[in-house]
Amino acid sequence: MEKNIGEILITREEIAAKVAELARLLDEEYAGKNPLMICVLKGALMFMADLTRAMKIPLELDFMAVSSYGVSTRSSGVVRILKDLETGIEGRHVVIVEDIIDTGLTLKYLVQNLQSRRPASLKICTLLDKPSRRQADLQPDYCCFEIPDKFVVGYGLDYAEEYRNLPFIGVLKPEAYQ
Ligand code: 5GP
Repeated sequence: MEKNIGEILITREEIAAKVAELARLLDEEYAGKNPLMICVLKGALMFMADLTRAMKIPLELDFMAVSSYGVSTRSSGVVRILKDLETGIEGRHVVIVEDIIDTGLTLKYLVQNLQSRRPASLKICTLLDKPSRRQADLQPDYCCFEIPDKFVVGYGLDYAEEYRNLPFIGVLKPEAYQ
């Protein structure tokens, strides 16, 4: 499997340190607010698990699945909700937990959709951000790492459903998807 990884961009130790730091910040900002942490499946799975496990305040978890890339590496801009929340979010403090913001088109749709349900607050927390690729007018409130315009896999992120279980963030060799 790892023969298709050209370079390790972020090590598991670097991820763990940033996630712990972010958990402490969220503990402070959401103390007494019982935040609803929404994991955007499947890519944010590992991040969500590690982040919420490192947080000490009471919180709740929920999950959404939206369509994104399929087996291509470019955003289609078309977003479909494949799995919706089980929790009503009106009046709740909501944190969207994402794996990566690329064009921002997927998240823009999600934010608009969730805002229409009238949460008390809605913030975006992402593991990775590729600001150079942004098409939608949208910034994360919390971001662990800004990365260059490279296609990455690992720690939840896939290519055609592979590589999600790598413990680090790696750059896929172009020949692996061309
Ligand atoms: P956006 O709508 O921001 O362009 O795309 C967001 C989604 O595209 C992410 O949640 C992720 O599923 C996928 N994506 C964007 N860039 C990458 C990347 O470098 N690697 C992987 N594996 N997925 C990506």
